[in-house]
Amino acid sequence: MITSVIIPVIVMAVTVQQQADRYELMRERMVRTQIMDRGLSNPSVIAAMKKVPRHLFVPKEYQDEAYNDYPLPIGYYQTISQPYIVAYMTDVLRPGKGMKALEIGTGSGYQAAVLAEIVEKVYTIEIVPELARESAALLKKLGYDNITCRYGDGYKGWEEHAPFDLIIVTAAAESVPQPLIDQLAEGGRLVIPVGKPNAVQELQLITKRKSRTETKRLTFVRFVPFKRL
Ligand code: SAH
Repeated sequence: MITSVIIPVIVMAVTVQQQADRYELMRERMVRTQIMDRGLSNPSVIAAMKKVPRHLFVPKEYQDEAYNDYPLPIGYYQTISQPYIVAYMTDVLRPGKGMKALEIGTGSGYQAAVLAEIVEKVYTIEIVPELARESAALLKKLGYDNITCRYGDGYKGWEEHAPFDLIIVTAAAESVPQPLIDQLAEGGRLVIPVGKPNAVQELQLITKRKSRTETKRLTFVRFVPFKRL
């Protein structure tokens, strides 16, 4: 009687462990072939990308594709970015210990988790209420107690917690929201896709120095549109 209960439990535990190992291998391979082979070498970004279980941030039916070299749907017409783009945007922000970051567009919560592995504190805002709720619950379940999530329109940033060392916008805006520039700390960096929705946009890196901003055009990207409430 007892063994008939214990054996299935052991079998299940072994299967869960094997699955986790399989995803870890996929993650290692993703980091090597999609990120390091493309020239990214920042050790803290690489360590974060190796650690965060990306498959848990995508819908069940896409879990086996989570480590592939493309974005995936996360519902509500939104997407989780391609792993390389997440790593690239994190890298250009030059995140470090003790920093405070703001993200606009929580989506699945994956980018927030990657940043939270490196910096001290992440604030993140999501405009789709269901996604805001689901990602907050997942991040909590995974133990990310240095991430604070909020539902709302990120256009105005999060004044209460400003200034931020780093700001990342993961939806494409036609222009850079002024409140985000205002909430950037001296020496702070903001990365944002700028351009028309449903087109190719320009990824810009904005640095604040002596209260003035410097804009660097990095590359072309394709992001979902920045919405307004
Ligand atoms: N960083 C996310 C990517 C999500 S896609 C991830 O790692 O999964 C971009 C997200 O930005 C979408 O979920 C979209 O709903 C959200 N978004 C668009 N406009 C917004 C706004 N004004 N404020 C907050 N979130 C916004």
